Amino acid sequence: MKSQNSFSRNLGVVLSVLVLGLFLFRPLVAAQAPAKHKQAQKPTKQKTAPEPVWDLVISGGMVVTMDAPHRILENGIVAVQGDLIVAVEPPTPAANDKYTHAAKQLIDAKGKLVLPGFINGHTHVPMTLFRGLKDDVTLEEWLTKFIFPAEAKNVNEEFVRWGTRLAAAEQIRGGITSFADMYYFEDAIAEETKAAGMRGVLGETILDFPAPDNKNNEAMLEYTEKFLKRWQGDPLIHAAVAPHSMYTCSQATLQDSAALARKYKAPILIHVAETKKELNDSREKNGNTPVQYLDKLGILGPDVLAAHCIWVDETDRKILAQRQVGCVHNPSSNMMLASGVAPVIEERSAGIAVGLGTDKWTWRRSCRRSQKSTRERWARKLSSRWPPSRARGPSIWKRKLALSKWARKPTLFCLALMPPMLRRCTTSMRNWLMR
Ligand SMILES: [Zn+2]
Repeated sequence: MKSQNSFSRNLGVVLSVLVLGLFLFRPLVAAQAPAKHKQAQKPTKQKTAPEPVWDLVISGGMVVTMDAPHRILENGIVAVQGDLIVAVEPPTPAANDKYTHAAKQLIDAKGKLVLPGFINGHTHVPMTLFRGLKDDVTLEEWLTKFIFPAEAKNVNEEFVRWGTRLAAAEQIRGGITSFADMYYFEDAIAEETKAAGMRGVLGETILDFPAPDNKNNEAMLEYTEKFLKRWQGDPLIHAAVAPHSMYTCSQATLQDSAALARKYKAPILIHVAETKKELNDSREKNGNTPVQYLDKLGILGPDVLAAHCIWVDETDRKILAQRQVGCVHNPSSNMMLASGVAPVIEERSAGIAVGLGTDKWTWRRSCRRSQKSTRERWARKLSSRWPPSRARGPSIWKRKLALSKWARKPTLFCLALMPPMLRRCTTSMRNWLMR
């Protein structure tokens, strides 16, 4: 009994000591624990990313640099600061440390191409709202019987703004970041282009009959001069002068337009040698080709962007190269109107810079399924050299739109005809488009 009591007493003492020890040492253990924790955190803190430096870094994509050696970087890194690309580098550990880990905004471009934006060298953006108006006619019929009357009846500043917004959304979606445009109310087009964050070479159109915004030559030149003055020095908008063509402008109009452009060092945008009729008429009226006629008037120069240049012979190509005129090839438009095929290979061999353009937007049907059959019909038009009206094929997509129904309500037009496009737009783009 005694020994049992003694054992219990000793056990009680041992437990008491242990409990007391734990109690006494607890603060010490607790005090040491944060120290250990701090020690464990210290190296982690050192390893955290440095202060973000770069506004935007895109990594993980295949970067098509388009630099002199045409480098293509797999998993390349592109760093942007402000509005400048400051670095394009392969994915080395050093580049990752320097850029990827120091980005304010990081885009993972895995599985994507990263490349400079496309440039649409010739277009008329508000004409998106004339989409589906008329097919299977020549350029002359298309202009005089359909487009010019439709423009006279419907085009105002609001029309132009909506058309530009829609065209900007479609172009951005297609990877186009810059475009050269010829239309009316070009000041409004410039405002919408800038709002979309796109770069534009925008030419106010001048011709010898009343336009939707200006009713005579004098008013057109006055408007254009104000437009040139307003946008001088803008980082995104390059205001230009756009005499429509040699068949819609007199000699005086062409020369006045060129003089105005050169006074402000602005580009000149013009349609040149688009159809065989233009070539034949020029030969008959002026005794030479459209290119030679324009050269004789002193219009051609390195500040000229000439759309089409389809009906150009060897002498014309030499002149275009000597004057450093830029040519724009518009294959879809040329197919739709059966205008012909530009001799792009010969033009490039002659030393002419040739770009690509969409031209009119009216050929693009809203339904993607129609595109294959549409292009087949266009190819028939070109290969047969038939008049466009004879090359009509079976077209189940020949949906005619009553102009009066949608021209007044472009918002409904967008919603009714473009739901797939709108669905694919980002929320912000949709909000911007529908604002
Ligand atoms: Zn055009």
